[in-house]
Amino acid sequence: MRISEMYAPTLREVPAEAEVISHKLMLRAGFIRKAAGGMYTYLPLALRVLKKIEQIVREEMDKAGAQELLMPIVQPAEIWQESGRWSVYGDEMFRLKDRHNREFCLGPTHEELVTTLIRADVRSYRQLPLNVYQIQNKYRDERRPRFGLMRGREFIMKDSYSFDRDEAGLDVAYNKMYDAYTNIFSRCGLNFRPVEADSGAIGGSGSHEFMAIADSGEAEIVYCEKCQYAANVEKAELFPLEAAAEEMQALKEVETPNCKTIEAVCEFLHLPVVKSVKAVAFKSEKGLILCFVRGDHEVNEIKVANACGVPEVEMAPEEMLTAAQTVGGFMGPVGMDTTKTIVLIDNTVMKMHNVCCGANKVGVHYVNANPERDFKATIVADIRLMQEGDPCPHCGAPVKVARGIEVGQVFKLFTKYSSALKATYLDEAGKEQPMVMGCYGIGVSRTMAAAIEQYNDKDGIIWPVSIAPYAVIVVPVQMKDAVSVAKAEEVYQQLCQAGIETVIDDRDERPGVKFKDADLIGYPLRVVVGPKGLAEGKLEVKARKTGSVEMVDLDSQYIDKIKSLLAAL
Ligand SMILES: [Zn+2]
Repeated sequence: MRISEMYAPTLREVPAEAEVISHKLMLRAGFIRKAAGGMYTYLPLALRVLKKIEQIVREEMDKAGAQELLMPIVQPAEIWQESGRWSVYGDEMFRLKDRHNREFCLGPTHEELVTTLIRADVRSYRQLPLNVYQIQNKYRDERRPRFGLMRGREFIMKDSYSFDRDEAGLDVAYNKMYDAYTNIFSRCGLNFRPVEADSGAIGGSGSHEFMAIADSGEAEIVYCEKCQYAANVEKAELFPLEAAAEEMQALKEVETPNCKTIEAVCEFLHLPVVKSVKAVAFKSEKGLILCFVRGDHEVNEIKVANACGVPEVEMAPEEMLTAAQTVGGFMGPVGMDTTKTIVLIDNTVMKMHNVCCGANKVGVHYVNANPERDFKATIVADIRLMQEGDPCPHCGAPVKVARGIEVGQVFKLFTKYSSALKATYLDEAGKEQPMVMGCYGIGVSRTMAAAIEQYNDKDGIIWPVSIAPYAVIVVPVQMKDAVSVAKAEEVYQQLCQAGIETVIDDRDERPGVKFKDADLIGYPLRVVVGPKGLAEGKLEVKARKTGSVEMVDLDSQYIDKIKSLLAAL
């Protein structure tokens, strides 16, 4: 491809609406253009990247025994009504009517469609297992589409669905997909972690999210560098931290005027925050929940809801605290009526000695409270958020906290959809059984964005070779020098013939302009052909990733040399 003919309009200015780096760079480098909020046209460079990611996905899915098919984007309402999700999906679903006033939606996902497909065709255990996949646009009418391709309203997904006879079969299918995903994201060059995840609204239980590590990620994850442990912060299980043994001191009330936070109280009393217990109050369908965690820990609302057996919790209003005879800023577990209020104490707190906590009176705290002696709990449970440095639940090494972009997810659906949609088969005894399902998604367009989030610098994108739109750009620097221009053409042709995806910047532009655009677009290797190098019989080859420059002899070996430089990136 010749840059003079390429439709890749670069921009010098950063578009104002772009918040994250991948969005900015894709607009600036001429990869995408906005058509409507959260909907983009993929220009030729972006499409090449997407096709490469798709190819990797196809190869690994096929290798894992999955079969590609293609379902319609437009889906009838009936199947969604049958599964009960027509109403659940709410405004996020794009809905439309045909000329006969029949209702349809633009598929946000395909569980209903694939399950009704398979139920019509699969009758016997002999036809199972099956795993089918497609690569297609999905639609979700996000209230606030943002971050370019990271949270669009139209996006490209690979979605696959496995159908098995039983849970043992599902385990096999799930593990195959887990391994395929590991291969896919490794081949795409991403720095990622598979993490244990909450299954969320899609249903079922047993799930991993594949998270690309990036500061702009929307999810917070913890991971261990010593072992393979990784989890969503919200899901990460914590064992109680042991505190050193201490003699119990006598409980004492102390004045803490104007100290509204636990940090202020500890500073006022000259106590380390780890010797304090702080409170967070929630309102729930079971009434007030008073949660207590160590002063430097944070409460995990999902764990609180799970521990209390309620669907969700929200911050409690002050009047609920007054009714429970306590007061915001001074809540404490000593003397609380655990029959009227759910007192939920973190398991680490119960291991502490001689701590400071609120005394349920304005301006007063206790010191030398001893949980095992003075606290009465309705429930003791793990209710805190894991934080950096907490011991890994698998090996004990300190964990790290990072943000991640979810690029893939694997789910065990079990019989959620097969039961709702009556997708059954006849087992060996002729008995009707629901099929056991799994579903597996990869955000293809999001994977492209995640790669840019991970690999960029002030000059632009730094593509991993495996998904780069082109591997090499040949830059003739002196367009007036007919000899070197002819040589650049020859190098370009030879690289193309050798199967290396190459472009030539044949524009009549200054070298600086060409170099800037090459860096912005992020070709892994830049080959400069100019009179100076040619005088010594050499090409200047620069790696975008490392910035290292090598003078390569323009002899019969130079193509092999370029291939090996690419392979080393
Ligand atoms: Zn570990």
